[in-house]
Amino acid sequence: KYMQTIPVKGEDEVAQLGISIQKLGEQLQYFEDSRNEFLAAVSHELRTPLTYIKGYSDVLKKGMANSDEEKEEYLSIINKEAQRLSIMINDLFEMSKLQVGKFELDKRPVNLNELINKTATNLRPEVVKKGLKITLELEDGLPKTKVDKERMEQVFYNLLENAVKYSTEGEITIRSSTKKDLVVVEICDTGEGIPKPELSRIWDRFYRVERSRGRKTGGTGLGLYVVKQIIEAHGGQIQVNSKLNEGTVFTIYLKTSKERVE
Ligand code: ADP
Repeated sequence: KYMQTIPVKGEDEVAQLGISIQKLGEQLQYFEDSRNEFLAAVSHELRTPLTYIKGYSDVLKKGMANSDEEKEEYLSIINKEAQRLSIMINDLFEMSKLQVGKFELDKRPVNLNELINKTATNLRPEVVKKGLKITLELEDGLPKTKVDKERMEQVFYNLLENAVKYSTEGEITIRSSTKKDLVVVEICDTGEGIPKPELSRIWDRFYRVERSRGRKTGGTGLGLYVVKQIIEAHGGQIQVNSKLNEGTVFTIYLKTSKERVE
């Protein structure tokens, strides 16, 4: 009887190992699949603006534009698409830096209100163009946080750009406040919102909510991935709350800096 139990246990372990190997295989397959999907998505995303640039510059080069207005129009398309390409390449570059661990933070005590103000000013033309309203509710005397200024600026830029991109009307509010030893920043919009089942996936590389995909606004699905990596590298946290067709709130928590540097 005793002898019988040993082989049974052994078989169990072998079976267990078999299952683990299979799981590992599935995981590797998953990574392989997502890498292939990634490359396909990148090539597709990069090709679209290039097609426009090539097409319209060909037309101009062959002198096929009928009027000065037409020339202007084609040039502005070329310009816009080149701009889009440049944003995408930046996103990709940022992401590859995050991935190979070349992710050094140059942390200094910073007043986040200043960064928020700067980002809001940079995006103001887009906000005005879409007829949106932007409100800043920034706490006076907000304690400084020790952050990498450029990275944190990118965080605010990505979040604010999304708020603009995924809103057709209404208001965008950026709020800063303190909660114990944390600085809290909220970026709220009254835009299209994110469907609940997709909420947990928006942080994934290249993930775009179903109805954003075919859209002309473009985008790589990298923005929020990069945002999360940066916040977490700072020891902070980011959360999202969203209601379909009502709006979205992103909340960032960062530790206040103990250093008193002016
Ligand atoms: P993208 O380049 O597509 O904007 P992101 O990683 O920045 O990529 O965002 C991932 C997806 O999350 C977007 O495709 C969009 O569907 C959704 N999303 C992000 N921010 C918002 C927002 N403020 N309102 C509604 N949907 C959003």
